[in-house]
Amino acid sequence: MQTLQHFIAGRLVDGQSSRFGDVFNPATGAVARQVPLASAVEVDAAVAAARDAFPAWAATTPLRRARVMFKFKELLEQNAQALAELISSEHGKVVSDALGEITRGMEVIEFACGIPQLLKGEYSEQVGSGVDSFSLRQPLGVVAGITPFNFPAMVPLWMIPVALATGNTFILKPSERDPSAGLFLADLLKQAGLPDGVFNVLHGDKDAVNGLLTHPDVAAISFVGSTPIAKHIYETGAAHGKRVQALGGAKNHLVVAPDADLDQAVEALMGAAYGSAGERCMAISVAVAVGDVADALVAKLAERARSLKVGAGDDPVAEMGPLVTRQHLDKVSGYVDSGVREGAKLVVDGRSLKVAGHEDGFFIGPCLFDQVGTDMTIYKEEIFGPVLSVVRVPDFEAAIELINSHQFANGTSLFTASGRAAREFVSRIQVGMVGINVPIPVPMAFHSFGGWKASLFGDHSIHGPEGVRFYTRLKTVTSRWPESLTAEFAMPTMK
Ligand code: NAD
Repeated sequence: MQTLQHFIAGRLVDGQSSRFGDVFNPATGAVARQVPLASAVEVDAAVAAARDAFPAWAATTPLRRARVMFKFKELLEQNAQALAELISSEHGKVVSDALGEITRGMEVIEFACGIPQLLKGEYSEQVGSGVDSFSLRQPLGVVAGITPFNFPAMVPLWMIPVALATGNTFILKPSERDPSAGLFLADLLKQAGLPDGVFNVLHGDKDAVNGLLTHPDVAAISFVGSTPIAKHIYETGAAHGKRVQALGGAKNHLVVAPDADLDQAVEALMGAAYGSAGERCMAISVAVAVGDVADALVAKLAERARSLKVGAGDDPVAEMGPLVTRQHLDKVSGYVDSGVREGAKLVVDGRSLKVAGHEDGFFIGPCLFDQVGTDMTIYKEEIFGPVLSVVRVPDFEAAIELINSHQFANGTSLFTASGRAAREFVSRIQVGMVGINVPIPVPMAFHSFGGWKASLFGDHSIHGPEGVRFYTRLKTVTSRWPESLTAEFAMPTMK
């Protein structure tokens, strides 16, 4: 059995804590490897490595930092298939889906390659007589990224390229459920010429996270994961004087208006609800059927869901793989049980699905509920599995009211043929990322990603221009070269 190591100061090092976690292959149910769970000793070692590497990396010109990013991107392209297979073997998602997340991550590296342009400041000549003013953005120091299991490459890549290109040093604490992708990225960064200590991988669970959150030498924390942990990260990090962006959970609604192209809406819902087995923070878990569209929508969804191909991640015809762990499978099945108990109509039941040859894998088939009420647990909570709930509303107003009343506000979408309705929706909806006839409106790398309300704690969305702002501090300089200077005792004003 393989035992993974931490990556600190440019080297793989054994765990010291004698605590380990099991990493499963979700398609077979077998333990594939073990991951060390760091204690304070390894947290200190990772922070010290990143702190020592910071002055030289911060002083490296943005152009040279960008060149490392160019090389990193090239290496990732060459190794994408191997990384996708590794992700699939620990997460369970199909390989084509894993390749998709690598592409989305690679786009953030491409964005970071433009860092000399992105770091250009502002300059004002003559803000007063003979006085000029300019602003610059400088790196924070040691920053840590704490990431979830569902995108073991893409979510770290939302953070790493921007944090490094802006001159910070970085500690990645990947999910302990699929930790290998982080080590794979560390190896590519080293090959790309990144100096030792600039990027480190620290494996672990809450002990490692809490060590980073309270460490005096960590300047900022980027977190992506579930809402209760995001809130804890934000509050604890802020209480310890750190800059924090903490992205949380979601319950994303897709509204099907009566004038929408129903076949397009059904195709969009299938991919958005069941792709990656629903383990996406931008998955659609609620279809909002407006007016008399509901019966036809449910009938078409049910037919498509029953024929969806579920299989191991490396099965080339599979459209959906297993869930990440047995524990998560039990949780998702438990939600389906609760939906039935609370009176929703289970139109498609995936609970008894077995995949031939993979009887011990963590599989569940697609589930479809109709007649879901807003007081039901399956509506209020994030399920994070292949479970789609249809909520029926009488009109467009009720759809907006429904979405705006939910605690989560990550993404939402409207399928319609009406430009006026679309414009109204964009303007009034209280959600961070909005799609019009686009089911999963994940912003591109050169825009920024982030929800509202219980889906994001902190001020900054992730990657894009907001990422550059998060990983840098603004300094504003006012300068003059006077021939003489007289003391002023009244508040100085520019003349
Ligand atoms: P999680 O919150 O369980 O874990 C995320 C990270 O936090 C992991 O690295 C984990 O080790 C650490 N962690 C877990 N418990 C902790 C604790 N008590 N104290 C400190 N750290 C702890 O999330 P997950 O199950 O890995 O991922 C799924 C969740 O992530 C879903 O809720 C999903 O919506 C969310 N997510 C959100 C986004 C977004 O952009 N908003 C993106 C991806 C995933």
